[in-house]
Amino acid sequence: MDKNARICIVGGGPAGLSAGMYLEKKGYTNYTILERLDRVGGKCWSPTYNGRRYEMGAIMGVPSYYAVHDVEEFCGITHDGPKLNRNYKNGQGKVIEPFEPKKNLFKIPRLLKMKKQIKKLGEILETKYKGYDLNGHRGVSEGRYEGFSQTNAKREPVSGTNPNLKDLSLPFNKFCELNGVELTQDVWIGPFTSFGYGYFDEIPAAYVLKYLDFQTCMNFVKINLWTWKNGTQYIWEQLNDHLMHPAVLSQTIEKVERKDDKVYVTANGETKEYDYIIVTAPLYIPDKRADGQIGMVDYFDARDDEKELFSKIDYERYDVLAVETKPEDHPEISYYVFDNMVPAKLGHLMVYYRRWRDTKDQVITTYALRKHKDMEEVPYDVCRQTVLDDLKVMGNPASNVINEWSVYYFPHVFSEDYKNGWYEKVEAMQGKYRTFYAGEIMSFGDMDETAEYSRELVERFF
Ligand SMILES: Cc1cc2nc3c(=O)[nH]c(=O)nc-3n(C[C@H](O)[C@H](O)[C@H](O)COP(=O)(O)OP(=O)(O)OC[C@H]3O[C@@H](n4cnc5c(N)ncnc54)[C@H](O)[C@@H]3O)c2cc1C
Repeated sequence: MDKNARICIVGGGPAGLSAGMYLEKKGYTNYTILERLDRVGGKCWSPTYNGRRYEMGAIMGVPSYYAVHDVEEFCGITHDGPKLNRNYKNGQGKVIEPFEPKKNLFKIPRLLKMKKQIKKLGEILETKYKGYDLNGHRGVSEGRYEGFSQTNAKREPVSGTNPNLKDLSLPFNKFCELNGVELTQDVWIGPFTSFGYGYFDEIPAAYVLKYLDFQTCMNFVKINLWTWKNGTQYIWEQLNDHLMHPAVLSQTIEKVERKDDKVYVTANGETKEYDYIIVTAPLYIPDKRADGQIGMVDYFDARDDEKELFSKIDYERYDVLAVETKPEDHPEISYYVFDNMVPAKLGHLMVYYRRWRDTKDQVITTYALRKHKDMEEVPYDVCRQTVLDDLKVMGNPASNVINEWSVYYFPHVFSEDYKNGWYEKVEAMQGKYRTFYAGEIMSFGDMDETAEYSRELVERFF
């Protein structure tokens, strides 16, 4: 491709900004990033409270966040945030230690069985499911793997056939049953469902295991995690500051037309011509959202195949509140509430996060899901009230809500579409209309997977 190609990137979140960085590193300097909001970072949103930044969006990373590490190196920053720690409560607010045999004598057989199954899962992932942990989903439904190894920062190209990979289109609970490792869900659920990624009876195993590959899940268990003092948004603000062309903010894209081998983008009333466009913003949003976000099919001259495929995308309704508490009600640590991580407890508090250890003068952030594929969506206000009631049950009532949002979160497709080759079809469309698709749907809804996908997209096509 011509290094002078004019490339428009839609979205100034981790995927869009990383696309800019990797293009620049490869010698493509004629790119423009258009961002809808008046800030960069997307779901990495770290507002300030009493002089310190807290997290409304992304919080943590693991040592295998190689793409995020590329960004850190590019900007000369590091993960310098407060160490994470957590305890557990049951649904009645009692502190529990669910994984400690001495505290759960009656559960010892189950815990021993769980330990064995975790070992077994680790083994089959390396053997039976070789190739499962590559970034993105290319080839999986056809029993192939194709991408770049994620075992170290070098990310060597790898590919092969492995028909067993087709099992990854099953919902994760069915995948575990198939392999006799049902009890591993007790461990995987913490960093999955409570982090807003949905329930194991609805989400294909591919998403679960590509994000929580064995090594990453063990990093969560051992709390071997990264955070950033100035918040995850700082990573992307820094990247934006170091790019040759920082994102153009507050852009409302009214129209994108792809014709005559060019791409015409009209934003804030002005039309500009490009050679290619990379979309990292949502591709499809089924219903009108209160925050005004729309999918690309609504402002592009979307073709039938784009409309058809992207209409299969669903997303999670993940709600975050930032609350103040009275000092005497302030939690001493972050808590996970496993009892509330099941569909029957839709709309309930699943986890709450205390960020700083040295002060009670901070907000606590709470997390709840209010949608399941087979259930009626819990309305926003009902969920909000339920979470506030749950905080009382937990013994940490809120005195005030200072910030809140319902996030367009973790776009994904369900098992049937995954199995029927949704990703193969979309991957085959890359570049077809001078358009490339990146961002969360193409890999997984975390900072590193999206940044890594942008890296690979640039490697593959530019
Ligand atoms: C509560 C919460 C907790 C999380 N925790 C973690 C965590 O601990 N670790 C982790 O790695 N990840 C975490 N994540 C996920 C992570 O933040 C996202 O997966 C990541 O930000 C995705 O990057 P992206 O660029 O693909 O999308 P986004 O971050 O959503 O960025 C997309 C950008 O596109 C912009 N945009 C949208 N529409 C348009 C348009 N029409 N025109 C122009 N611009 C547009 C948006 O404003 C946004 O800036 C969390 C997210 C949330 C909300």
